[in-house]
Amino acid sequence: MKTCLVTGGAGFIGSHLCRNLLKKGYRVICIDNLCTGSRKNISGLKGNFEFIEKDVKEGFEVKGHMDFIFHLASRASPLDFTKYPIDILLTNSIGTYNVLKLAMEKKARFLLASTSEVYGNPLEHPQKETYFGNVNSLGPRSCYDESKRFAESLTMNFHKKFGVDVRIARIFNCFGESMKADDGRVIPNFINQALKGKDITIYGIGKQTRSFCYVSDMVEGLEKLMFSKHNGMVFNLGSPNELSIIEVANLIKGLMGSDSEIVFKEALENDPERREPDISRARKLLDWEPKVSFEEGLKKTIEYFREGK
Ligand code: UDP
Repeated sequence: MKTCLVTGGAGFIGSHLCRNLLKKGYRVICIDNLCTGSRKNISGLKGNFEFIEKDVKEGFEVKGHMDFIFHLASRASPLDFTKYPIDILLTNSIGTYNVLKLAMEKKARFLLASTSEVYGNPLEHPQKETYFGNVNSLGPRSCYDESKRFAESLTMNFHKKFGVDVRIARIFNCFGESMKADDGRVIPNFINQALKGKDITIYGIGKQTRSFCYVSDMVEGLEKLMFSKHNGMVFNLGSPNELSIIEVANLIKGLMGSDSEIVFKEALENDPERREPDISRARKLLDWEPKVSFEEGLKKTIEYFREGK
């Protein structure tokens, strides 16, 4: 039986990934320090599943063989960029280093969960994997942007220098069940504001855009990339359906039949103005593209928060 290790496996995307890998017959080891993940997310996972409560920043050992390592451990909400910048920097640098060393020792294949944030406030649109990005190394988002860029570099250099089998996924705005209501990201914020009859808060004038990918599609993309032959390559994973934040607010309001008012707050510093992945590489080489429409994904996510799970 093949074994997968998932760092950040009790988090939002990680817990969906663990569940799916178990369903496919893999043995799954999940490492998480529960800083944003939770036991609730993995409570239903049984059988060939093991949970290790550990921080990847701290040295750690995992006994036995493993074949595939999905490295997802990191805070990812912009709210946390101001609250926990040093933790984010160290998780993505020292943490990634520790996990890469483990991959090397176990001769396991390694997948880094990177991010569209490596493109910063992009001057190229839509963003292709070849784009170098436009990042402010001193800005409020730099702890995440720069540490993920560092993690990408570390990953590629472990590949070049030591022959570790690696691949990098740049994840663009993923959403779905198991996000935390107080996560701070736009989808849980808007849904929970509407649920409570509170104002829906748009930062800035709402013309900034994002492209949202439902979590089941993202998990499928991560698996396809891991189980492909594309050693040493980077792939954008996300939806090419670009929407403005005001469109998102109106769509959520409409789907929920909400009377909440849309209010405009001060714009966030260095908030990327436009973001949309060019996914031609994933389409061509992984035969992957998102299947779940934004509206369909939103309905499931709204249901999840409505039920107060
Ligand atoms: N946003 C907003 N209101 C909120 C939360 C977020 O207008 O309550 C905006 C935010 O400024 C950004 C976009 O929604 O332009 C997406 O933000 P999110 O935090 O979800 O992720 P990001 O893509 O910025 O990492």
